[in-house]
Amino acid sequence: MAPIPGIKTILAVASGKGGVGKSTCATNIALGLASLGFRVGLLDADIYGPSAPKLMGIHEQPRIEGDRVFPIEKYGIKVMSMGFFMEEENPVIWRGPMVVSALMQFTREVDWGGLDVLVLDMPPGTGDAQLTMAQQTPLTGAVIISTPQDLALIDARKGLNMFKNVDVPIYGIVENMSTFICPHCGKPSDIFGHGGAEEDARRLGVPFLGAIPLHMDIRENSDAGTPVVVSQPDSTHAQIYKKIAIKV
Ligand code: ADP
Repeated sequence: MAPIPGIKTILAVASGKGGVGKSTCATNIALGLASLGFRVGLLDADIYGPSAPKLMGIHEQPRIEGDRVFPIEKYGIKVMSMGFFMEEENPVIWRGPMVVSALMQFTREVDWGGLDVLVLDMPPGTGDAQLTMAQQTPLTGAVIISTPQDLALIDARKGLNMFKNVDVPIYGIVENMSTFICPHCGKPSDIFGHGGAEEDARRLGVPFLGAIPLHMDIRENSDAGTPVVVSQPDSTHAQIYKKIAIKV
């Protein structure tokens, strides 16, 4: 497949279902890569539920010149999202092929400048749009995000197989919302279970990239548009995201 001029690698961050923290991970991994000195772009391809505007605290619209759209720069990375072009409360009701063509336009017609890595926050699931995207984008590799819960893991396995079927290398699985450390008593609780993603990774023969705890700071900073990798760069969470960024 033809590479995209100026973009060295494209990393897909995917999940079998929504709500497992895929966008939070994609954003923090992108920022982690930037902190390592890479030139990074983040494409929020979750067209039905774009989250980059909120997660990155971006409220303006991208500049458009002729048929070129320029990504918005924040915290040292370049960001593009369908969310920049719509109001928060208005749902997008598009059929699969329209989603795919919008995304193709986003990867090919956005003026990314030169990038070492484009992080693609994929739409959740394994439907037609995701499959076509995986087939039509020159992906370098994919990272699968899952909670430790059985149901999420079953869906994550489907996601993993989708990439395998189209010959996209799997960089590994991340277990998100892993152990919860109570801010009051300091005791750990495994609300969604623990270690399921690591076990699955071993069984499926793909690397396990790390476990991110379920923590209030991660949620609060995501909601505030100040992801932990930039707002608390020395925190344990930020270090975990950065370690994952190093591995991919
Ligand atoms: P997805 O992209 O899979 O739909 P999001 O990244 O939007 O999921 O995350 C869903 C919700 O969970 C958001 O409110 C986010 O702030 C929160 N969240 C994600 N990861 C964590 C975590 N490790 N700890 C606490 N909250 C998290």
